[in-house]
Amino acid sequence: MASLFTKILKGEIPGEIVHEDELCFALKDIDPKAPVHLLIIPKKEIQSIAHSEKEDQATLGHLFLVAKKLAHGLGLDSEGYRLVTNIGENGGQSVPHLHVHLLGGRPMG
Ligand code: AMP
Repeated sequence: MASLFTKILKGEIPGEIVHEDELCFALKDIDPKAPVHLLIIPKKEIQSIAHSEKEDQATLGHLFLVAKKLAHGLGLDSEGYRLVTNIGENGGQSVPHLHVHLLGGRPMG
């Protein structure tokens, strides 16, 4: 069964996609924890970093380069921002489809 994020990509569930390319897409978080809160998500349904394989190396690197590009476009370079990915229950992961949170626009503490 398709993940929540894949359903959003396919248009089956509403969502605000702000970037898409051959390997990934970026979505506005529905419950933003900062003025900027995007999720950068591989199109491949890798459950988490813990489930990634050697063959995913280029995709994983790509997620961070896209995050950097989006952050730059949003004017976050000078003040900085946070990139984080949660893994499993204790990591606080609620959607089992790998995603990198891009948080910015306020101090993260
Ligand atoms: P995590 O807890 O690391 O798995 O992060 C999942 C994120 O997905 C949370 O920040 C949620 O607010 C976000 N989220 C859940 N449902 C949606 C949705 N329908 N559209 C956009 N973001 C969502």
